[in-house]
Amino acid sequence: MLQELYQELILDHGRSPRNHGVLADANCQQEGHNPLCGDRVTVYVLEQAGVIKDVQFTGDGCAICIASSSLMTEFLKGRTVAEAKQVFSQFQSAILEPETSSTVELGKLAALQGVARYPMRVKCATLPWHTLVAALDKEKKTVCTE
Ligand code: ZN
Repeated sequence: MLQELYQELILDHGRSPRNHGVLADANCQQEGHNPLCGDRVTVYVLEQAGVIKDVQFTGDGCAICIASSSLMTEFLKGRTVAEAKQVFSQFQSAILEPETSSTVELGKLAALQGVARYPMRVKCATLPWHTLVAALDKEKKTVCTE
């Protein structure tokens, strides 16, 4: 049941991504590339006093990458930068070590835990997060998962 529900969620966000488009008043932005699959995303963040006031993305990628970007932006709006980084590490361990990780605090993001079974897809799901963190850290170089 839960599996089906999660699959629906990923399909839905892959087809009609939330927060998709250029964020005009962003003060951090970064591009990310996953050459393994061909996914490209740009993440835009409006950050004020350590809080993510707004976050949007544009991109061209597979359904997993787009769904992950969409779920990420939905999850992060209004959260602090510190929370975002903490959630990213939980999200990563949920995908990389699904047996030993808790998804309690991940909410809908837990839907992506299923990619753990498809190692080729892990980078598709984590690309938007790597890109987000690089944007928040104001890194100059394009993110590349390779
Ligand atoms: Zn992909």
